[in-house]
Amino acid sequence: MTRFIFITGGVVSSLGKGLCSAALGALLQARGFRVRLRKLDPYLNVDPGTMSPYQHGEVYVTDDGAETDLDLGHYERYVGVAARRSDSVTTGRIYSTVIGRERRGEYLGATVQVIPHVTDAIKEFITADLADEDFVLCEIGGTVGDIESLPFLEAIRQLGNELGRERVCFVHLTLVPWIASAGELKTKPTQHSAKELLGVGIQPDILLCRCERPIPDGARKKIALFCNLREQRVIPALDVDTIYAVPSAYHAEGFDREVCAHFGLAAPEPDLARWEEIVGRIRRPEGEVTIAIVGKYTHLPDSYKSLAEAMTHGGIANNVRVRLDWIESEVFETEAAALTQLEGVHGILVPGGFGERGSEGMIEAARFARERQVPYFGVCLGLQMAVIETARHRARLPGAGSTEFGPCAHPVIGLMTEWLRGNTLEQRRSGGDLGGTMRLGAYAAVLDPESRVAEIYGTTQISERHRHRYEVNIAYRDTLEAAGLHFSGMSPDGLLPEIVEIPGHPWFIGVQFHPELKSRPFEPHPLFTSFVKAAVAQSRLV
Ligand code: GLN
Repeated sequence: MTRFIFITGGVVSSLGKGLCSAALGALLQARGFRVRLRKLDPYLNVDPGTMSPYQHGEVYVTDDGAETDLDLGHYERYVGVAARRSDSVTTGRIYSTVIGRERRGEYLGATVQVIPHVTDAIKEFITADLADEDFVLCEIGGTVGDIESLPFLEAIRQLGNELGRERVCFVHLTLVPWIASAGELKTKPTQHSAKELLGVGIQPDILLCRCERPIPDGARKKIALFCNLREQRVIPALDVDTIYAVPSAYHAEGFDREVCAHFGLAAPEPDLARWEEIVGRIRRPEGEVTIAIVGKYTHLPDSYKSLAEAMTHGGIANNVRVRLDWIESEVFETEAAALTQLEGVHGILVPGGFGERGSEGMIEAARFARERQVPYFGVCLGLQMAVIETARHRARLPGAGSTEFGPCAHPVIGLMTEWLRGNTLEQRRSGGDLGGTMRLGAYAAVLDPESRVAEIYGTTQISERHRHRYEVNIAYRDTLEAAGLHFSGMSPDGLLPEIVEIPGHPWFIGVQFHPELKSRPFEPHPLFTSFVKAAVAQSRLV
């Protein structure tokens, strides 16, 4: 029997609902339950694929090619279950489903309304594509009180009613702010938020209260009294030093115990030894390395969420702390002296990105890494910029570039219009919808057995997630190989370059995919483990 846990948020946004959901998933899993996590986002975009990273942070891509919210990345990292398209939905997608049905006449002449048609479509999504999960945790994006989230709240209210308390639990995350001038923690915002939820018919079963300092018993009692729940169901959620300490911290406050008690489940205590092990490594590293991330959305590190986490995982694997130096690549275009910033770093990573802005600066960073023998990791756009760098400076192809930025003399990066996925021919429609022109999701690649990447992966057959439009132009392969860039990973049909590396360099690898999306704290991605290891070696030199 699948049980549903709905997680809503109140008072303010950015309280970390995603992490709270992921942590609860991890705790239930550690008690031996099978879990699945889902996200319902109230905005009108059909998916976040078309949103700027500044609007929305990273777009997380699943194996089955869905562009989703970055919280799905947290879910995957915490519970190790690969997210699917069916785990993420938005108001835009729900409405396009409903309107599609209406156009096909499927409502048989009825007046189509938010209740029941939209709420039915939401309920269908929540309960679809499940197998033998014990728990489905659904996070509702946004903050209670927003107009947009009302249909979602109504849908989960209905589900609570239909399935009963023994199959549904409502968790509400709020903030208990510290007011310095009064020298007090304030419970009023939490009271109002619970009341707001009650106003749409949902009595929270558990309140999780984010707070920067311990919540005294008196305040906890008061919240319980005013919000109509037992005191042990008011769980303090205090700030912690690393996100990987969240599951243990919530467990210590009784979060998972109360969830089990709500469902009347007698479950064994969770085994959190592996969580404590990684937290120990994060808190007590044996050394430190500095990696420069030379990108274009560096003001908002959320745009590179999975990348930063994958770096932490690489650090855990090598027992070092990885310090990230976020550098806006444009500075290398406008200030000649800016490259000196790269002199003390132990590794340079150029991440993914779209559009021309900052690309020349990334090419400069790749050149610096190649010439100065500094470990270089190019991810997606970072690979493309490294290829242009070699083309221009080693293959003597002046004017080499990417057609993404306009016409150029040597399009070493260009748009491919068709490719094979397994045995099916996929085609890119350049005039089509934005998402339709991208190579999205898991694709296989074959590695050269003699290459460094084959050694790193320990295999020659890999599968990684993609999200890009442009490809390295195979027509330039021989020229680029002669200039020292080895094409060490290719698509199975041999047409799409997936990985390039520079033999003889301490560590210079570019990948067309996004390895960071598959890195997990308990299974660090081999490329990140190896890159951080190379940075450790570099730190002994500089
Ligand atoms: N803009 C490049 C492309 O579309 C790279 C995309 C990315 O880095 N994810 O191919």
